[in-house]
Amino acid sequence: MRREIIAGNWKLFKTLAETREFFDALLPDIAGVDHCDVIVAPPFTVLSAAADAVRGSAVAISAQDVYWEADGAYTGEVSAPMLRDAGCDYTIIGHSERRQLFGETDETVSRKITAVLAQQMKAIVCVGETLEEREGGRAEKLVESQLRDGLAQLTAPELSNIIVAYEPVWAIGTGRTATPETAGQMHAAIRGVISEIYGQHAAESLRVLYGGSVKPGSIADLMAQPDIDGALVGGASLDVGSFAAIIRYGES
Ligand code: PEP
Repeated sequence: MRREIIAGNWKLFKTLAETREFFDALLPDIAGVDHCDVIVAPPFTVLSAAADAVRGSAVAISAQDVYWEADGAYTGEVSAPMLRDAGCDYTIIGHSERRQLFGETDETVSRKITAVLAQQMKAIVCVGETLEEREGGRAEKLVESQLRDGLAQLTAPELSNIIVAYEPVWAIGTGRTATPETAGQMHAAIRGVISEIYGQHAAESLRVLYGGSVKPGSIADLMAQPDIDGALVGGASLDVGSFAAIIRYGES
């Protein structure tokens, strides 16, 4: 049985004061929630404050990116040991905004994963096709190559520290969610690729999240798909009410 995950990606939003205010409101609201892991990925500047705010709760903190070297002359970068030190248990790697705007490749994804696992952290590895790739019938092939190249170096035991997030680029921040069936098909395809590389047990244990304009009104139908194990939520994770409603989906 795979435990569900609801993860929020704050992107380039929230000050220190807004971060504290967010967790002051969120934690009591979700105190009784037990059906899923909750992860929040704030920007670097507030990671430590976020980790302080969630201490003693069931919420875990993730970074949104990482550099693969531990330290050195790499101005502007932040390393996995630094994220660990700031209180992160996870980092997102290979988000499509990093791939599209900042030159992230499957090779850099792979290097970052290695660095993160060496710190006993877990990686939320994002994959997903553009609209052009989907309309050209290349979506599954593209996601397969992102998985094969990005996860290439991992052993099956290491894979247990990986969460895959399927995020079709055309659905991110656009208000256009993939239908549960479209998302479910890709999640099944992802599990198929993982099964080919690592075997059936690893594939059945892997948690695969859907991301792309998830809202309180769309989460339940997505979660009804057998291969969707949770959501990576961008815009709707910035508001306590909508993020809590997504976490509490299914409650009457
Ligand atoms: C994301 O940032 O990973 C994301 C899915 O964003 P949104 O929910 O806003 O589409």
